[in-house]
Amino acid sequence: MKWNLFDFEREGYYGSYGGSFVPEILRATIDELTRAFYEARQDPAFWPEFERFMATYSCRPTPITHLENLSRELGGAQIYVKREDLNHTGAHKANNVMGQGLLMRRMGKTRAIAETGAGQHGVATATMAARFGFECVVYMGAEDVERQRPNVFWMEQLGARVHPVTSGSQTLKDAINECMRDWVGSMENTHYVLGTTCGPHPFPMIVAYFQSIIGREARRQFQEMTGGLPDRVYACVGGGSNALGLFQGFLNDDSVEIVGVEAAGKGLDTGQHATRLSTPDASVGVAQGYRTYFLQNEEGCMNDTYSVSAGLDYVGVSPILCHLKDEGRVRFEAATDAEVIDALKRVMRHEGLIPALESAHAFVQALKEAPTLSPDQSILINQSGRGDKDIFTVAEGLNDPSWKEFIIHKADRYRQ
Ligand SMILES: *Cc1c(COP(=O)(O)O)cnc(C)c1O
Repeated sequence: MKWNLFDFEREGYYGSYGGSFVPEILRATIDELTRAFYEARQDPAFWPEFERFMATYSCRPTPITHLENLSRELGGAQIYVKREDLNHTGAHKANNVMGQGLLMRRMGKTRAIAETGAGQHGVATATMAARFGFECVVYMGAEDVERQRPNVFWMEQLGARVHPVTSGSQTLKDAINECMRDWVGSMENTHYVLGTTCGPHPFPMIVAYFQSIIGREARRQFQEMTGGLPDRVYACVGGGSNALGLFQGFLNDDSVEIVGVEAAGKGLDTGQHATRLSTPDASVGVAQGYRTYFLQNEEGCMNDTYSVSAGLDYVGVSPILCHLKDEGRVRFEAATDAEVIDALKRVMRHEGLIPALESAHAFVQALKEAPTLSPDQSILINQSGRGDKDIFTVAEGLNDPSWKEFIIHKADRYRQ
């Protein structure tokens, strides 16, 4: 059977994953959003409008780059990279937030709310709200507000109100609860801009739809460049949106092997990681509005997760990816922090690219497998974002003494 995001037997379910477990009071709003989305999708003018918007605001179509030096050095497959790092605000997140902005405008909503951990999705949402003239409130754990001062600064400069959440552990999951609470009281004029392919239906579907622009472009561009399709494609997996974005372009091409890469953090045997699909450490449960694999204990309490890259440090994962794993269509692997820093060094030195730490996870697995293929084969990696934001983490990871003092000095300044 051919893959189609909109052709599942039970609406909102991908196999046994997904669903929409929300308080009854939100039901009408969720239904309104689902209806508005289906209408937009069926309007032949909507997708072209989205493409036009992204072409003039976010550098789309983003190019594909052939990594000639690394391909030669490794002596295996030709390595290609889809450049989502060239989007406005530095990552694929722009595709989703701008798409939801267009949807909000259709629905006549004027206020955007979002939750964010590392702050990247908050900055993207604040950018969208500024562009469309919407009011914007971003919920963020008080701990994260402290840790992510530069992102908080930009959100505020872009006109958003950042609301520090002081309940619970003062991190992302408390911010999610607070954001939900806001929505229950404000649904009349407010849209909840969810940042990845997780949460209750219809969010995984909506986000996957807008992100599919990556794979649609990539398939066409790859054929134009090489006359064929890649033998394998790779993407990192946090919530799953950049991965599903690329993968959707190739799910119906049986010759293309599809690989998702999770964060193995300090190592799978340390317990300090964020792998939900590549190891048996996670189990299926219902939380945060949907059914998926969570890193949780036997009582269903969420475990602490860890990764050097904030964007992959996540307890749940897309229900759509869970289904594709069950179907055997996507293979899942994991990369450790140490491997990620190594891959990043190689890509910077040999190709002049600076992938985000998140994206570098996909590079780890791709660079491992490229030498096992032949030079007439090819692989495609999704560079989901740019690495500028990671300057302090990378400098620390490289253990360069000349930077140590500078980092400590800077970190102190942020805290003041
Ligand atoms: C947020 C982010 C991710 C992780 O999110 P997904 O929904 O899994 O794509 C990956 N890469 C970058 C650069 C990000 O900013």
